[in-house]
Amino acid sequence: MECYQCLQSGNTREAVGLCHHCSAALCADHICAVEEPLMVKHLMAPSTVFPKKARLMLCATCKAALEQFQSEPATEAEVCR
Ligand SMILES: [Zn+2]
Ligand SMILES: [Zn+2]
Repeated sequence: MECYQCLQSGNTREAVGLCHHCSAALCADHICAVEEPLMVKHLMAPSTVFPKKARLMLCATCKAALEQFQSEPATEAEVCR
């Protein structure tokens, strides 16, 4: 599979992964690995944020789009054991 982002600019490069959001194939230069906090939301109590984060592969377009929603800062202090 070839990188979608490279194909857009007329190049071909071997893809190393897929964007989690739009499923575009991406090369090492165009893939963005981000850390996704895992949390459980409770109705009447603060949400539990787990100490280990998951990995999420995204293209630059989806990463920028998804970051629009992350207006509230990560609540690392709310980790419950
Ligand atoms: Zn590329
Ligand atoms: Zn994408």
